[in-house]
Amino acid sequence: MASTFKSFGYGEIQTPTFETLELFTAKSGDSIIDEIYAFSDKGNRELALRPELTAPVIRFYVEKMQMEPKPLKLFYFGNCFRYDRPQKGRYREFWQAGCEIVGTNTPEAYAELVAMAYTILKNVGLKNIQLNIGNLNIINSTFTKLGLSKDGQKKLLPLIDKSQFDDVFSLLSDLGITNDSTKEFIDILQTSDINKIKKFIQEDASAMDELSNLEKILDLLKSSFNVKDFQIKMSIVRGLDYYKGLVFEIDAPVLGAEKQLCGGGAYELVTLFGGRETPTAGFAVGFDRTILALEIEKFAFPSLKTDVYIIPVSEEMIGKSIEIAQNLRKEGILTDLDLLRRGIGKSLKYANSKNAEKVIIIGPKELENDSVTLRDMKAGDQEVVKIADIVSKLKNN
Ligand code: AMP
Repeated sequence: MASTFKSFGYGEIQTPTFETLELFTAKSGDSIIDEIYAFSDKGNRELALRPELTAPVIRFYVEKMQMEPKPLKLFYFGNCFRYDRPQKGRYREFWQAGCEIVGTNTPEAYAELVAMAYTILKNVGLKNIQLNIGNLNIINSTFTKLGLSKDGQKKLLPLIDKSQFDDVFSLLSDLGITNDSTKEFIDILQTSDINKIKKFIQEDASAMDELSNLEKILDLLKSSFNVKDFQIKMSIVRGLDYYKGLVFEIDAPVLGAEKQLCGGGAYELVTLFGGRETPTAGFAVGFDRTILALEIEKFAFPSLKTDVYIIPVSEEMIGKSIEIAQNLRKEGILTDLDLLRRGIGKSLKYANSKNAEKVIIIGPKELENDSVTLRDMKAGDQEVVKIADIVSKLKNN
């Protein structure tokens, strides 16, 4: 994941595990307190373990990085804490790999962001992922067209978020919206046909602009980034009110209920934290869920590997064994050494369990000739080699 971020010009940032509680309440409101680990420290400061890293990164940006050349591309890998009910794919401590881009809102910046999220998950080896792209400004425009009050919207958002369209229908009926308008609205939430959406919002000039930007983003994704298998999904609301405009999610359907691997989009936090207005966007990938999805897809995780395991046959050989081990390590050869003084038989078994490719047995007779025994664990054969030739022997194999 880190190398994909770097390949797109992102640099790594690390922020503290805890922040002031206010940072998160400013972003998400007081109701967030129930969902996070909040506590007061010995100096009675109200603190919280970070539930995500966007707010910490933007705080850091506002405090220390506003003068940096734009766009600023930052990625992170960090543990997050949420006071959730633990279940499969939902933990109280989990890891997120994510990024923020500060200072640009061009369609190419957004297309690159979405393409990078998709590429990260493809590059780690996932076969089956689903990319969905939406836009909150367009959804807001549909709310305005329906004449929905802020209160009505608040009730509606969680239902849309969970795709509970029957409940959306009942709620809108209760709110006095006509059946025809409701049906059309629900159709917009489920359609992947941009023209249908266009027709619905055509009187709203700013929503039409947003839609034309979305079309540019989708076009770049398809024709330039070669990311073709995505869906337009206007029902992405992400449950957060700081998102503005573009939103996207990537799911791993094999995960069932907790299938969302990645979420992101454009948002506004800089001015809220006291900084000068500038566009921001980002996403976070759930690392634990990515591993779970890879396991279900039967991904062959690389096993721990040892290039060489060194066995001193007696106590007197330990010093020389360590010296040889250190030389091999300097050459970048992954080297381990018996630290239990157990016999050759048991040491060979252990070397086998650590997937050692070669074993070097260091005994007094060979050492007299500046030599050691080099054993190939797969072939099971062994030869006596000069100490000076070990590195070239290992590297040429
Ligand atoms: P969010 O910050 O809520 O948009 O979450 C971003 C990603 O982090 C989600 O798509 C999940 O993959 C992952 N995630 C969120 N909450 C949890 C959790 N409690 N346990 C494991 N992964 C999580």
